[in-house]
Amino acid sequence: MSVLEPIASALSAVSTPSLNWDDLASRVLAGHALTAAEGIAVLNCPDVELPALLAATYRVRHKYWGNEVQFYSLRNAKSGLCPEDCGYCSQSKISEAEIPKYRFNDEATLLASAKIAAENKSRTFCIVAAGRGPTEKELDHVIKVVQKIKSTLPLNICCCLGLLTPDQARRLADAGVDRVNHNLNTSRRYYPEICSTHTFDDRMETLKAVRDAGMELCSGGIVGMGELQDDIVDMALTLRDLKVESIPVNFLHPIDGTPLAGQRDLNPRECLKVLCLFRLANPESEIRIAGGRELHLRWLQPQGLYAANSLFVSDYLTTKGQTPEDDVRMVEDLGFVITGPGPETKKGQQAAAAAAGSQPECSHGGCCS
Ligand code: SF4
Repeated sequence: MSVLEPIASALSAVSTPSLNWDDLASRVLAGHALTAAEGIAVLNCPDVELPALLAATYRVRHKYWGNEVQFYSLRNAKSGLCPEDCGYCSQSKISEAEIPKYRFNDEATLLASAKIAAENKSRTFCIVAAGRGPTEKELDHVIKVVQKIKSTLPLNICCCLGLLTPDQARRLADAGVDRVNHNLNTSRRYYPEICSTHTFDDRMETLKAVRDAGMELCSGGIVGMGELQDDIVDMALTLRDLKVESIPVNFLHPIDGTPLAGQRDLNPRECLKVLCLFRLANPESEIRIAGGRELHLRWLQPQGLYAANSLFVSDYLTTKGQTPEDDVRMVEDLGFVITGPGPETKKGQQAAAAAAGSQPECSHGGCCS
């Protein structure tokens, strides 16, 4: 450590004074848009004030999502073999990680995974494929599988297929896909540090194509890649400006063989502050604790649900998660409830309401009433 570091740290603490968290939550509940300075203050919340920050953030979470928790399951439908060079990813062309590599799963495999997702109380099933973007053949395959899942299981469908053209996005929407996941991952400023084969603007264009096609946006990021606090706040506020409905917050799982192996500068309290930041910046959005939660939040995982309202369950793309049984127990121990399969998205609610000849009670399936 440099002899100047304690001084820099002390100056930083002085320049970002602590806030009255309850007052901040009240203002957010009254419609205040979190500022960048307030976001930095949340990330610098003194540990001794963390219970107060969590309690205040929980008021915001509770207004929009009650005590409900939504489970999300994903299937890595095509693993490895990606021509892109995202530094955090075990599936990139520059990764030497020992991971399974396979071409697109067939229909039976994807249907079986969707069935397991529904049995695990998941509300949304996400089909993920490594790659820059889908080929036409892959897109045809996904569309066929999505139509089968939607006709047999009560699941919302999210697809994460890389960069999409407007036409590809429209075809997915026509097939009944509710959401597309395409993470911003970090700020515009830091993006070139983590990837050189595509740009932040490429990602923004895909999000625009998804929105224009009428689907909901699922977009979040990864914290712990060596970015500054400013980058985390910038990402949270950009997602707010895009009105993203579903925000997965990942904590970097540094995998051996990737450029970011060995990077490990997060502690559980910092992770909780990050989740509070995303909730206070995006009060109405579904905030999901995603990859790296077991590794970085450790024994503080349950407290994360006072800010977030959603969890990825079972396994991630190339790493294992805790068991669905442990996740269910964690939610039940908090006194929270799992909403289970059903129409979660606004689009899904509208379809369900139309089928029942009524209007949905609220934008989150009745939890706000
Ligand atoms: S595009 Fe996706 S699969 Fe490919 S390296 Fe980047 S994150 Fe990994």
